[in-house]
Amino acid sequence: MDRRSQEYAQQKSLRAEVMWQALQRIIPDIRQRCDVTLVGTPLTHERYLRRHRGSYGPAIRAGVGLFPSPRTPIPGLLCCGDSTFPGIGLPAVAASGMMTANTIAPIHKHLQMLNL
Ligand SMILES: Cc1cc2nc3c(=O)[nH]c(=O)nc-3n(C[C@H](O)[C@H](O)[C@H](O)COP(=O)(O)OP(=O)(O)OC[C@H]3O[C@@H](n4cnc5c(N)ncnc54)[C@H](O)[C@@H]3O)c2cc1C
Repeated sequence: MDRRSQEYAQQKSLRAEVMWQALQRIIPDIRQRCDVTLVGTPLTHERYLRRHRGSYGPAIRAGVGLFPSPRTPIPGLLCCGDSTFPGIGLPAVAASGMMTANTIAPIHKHLQMLNL
């Protein structure tokens, strides 16, 4: 769909309606209590988060391969996030950041700094 079209705007509000109704069961005046509401769609994820076709994130099928390590061919440049090992999702992304930090500053470097 063209994200500037009337059809898209209608579809977006129709899909959001399901979530509003679910929330209203718990918080009946939720709509009046919201100052700002933003509805995201796969087109939003594609545009603002650079997600391929608006997906949740990159995926490599189990058994087919692994996400790349933080190292890159450029010396001193490391990557972390959901395009690197272990993959998508906040826990995996946090682990990727920790692994990258550990690659730069492993425990023996910490001990050296502490003169241990
Ligand atoms: C709809 C949706 C639902 C999800 N639900 C869950 C969930 O329930 N649980 C879960 O664990 N995970 C979920 N995920 C996955 C999770 O959000 C991602 O795996 C995670 O946020 C990726 O973190 P990241 O730091 O690698 O990238 P991002 O969080 O995408 O951060 C990348 C940042 O870089 C910025 N950026 C991009 N290009 C540039 C540039 N050129 N210059 C400067 N900045 C730039 C972007 O604006 C963004 O802020 C979901 C993802 C989506 C899309």
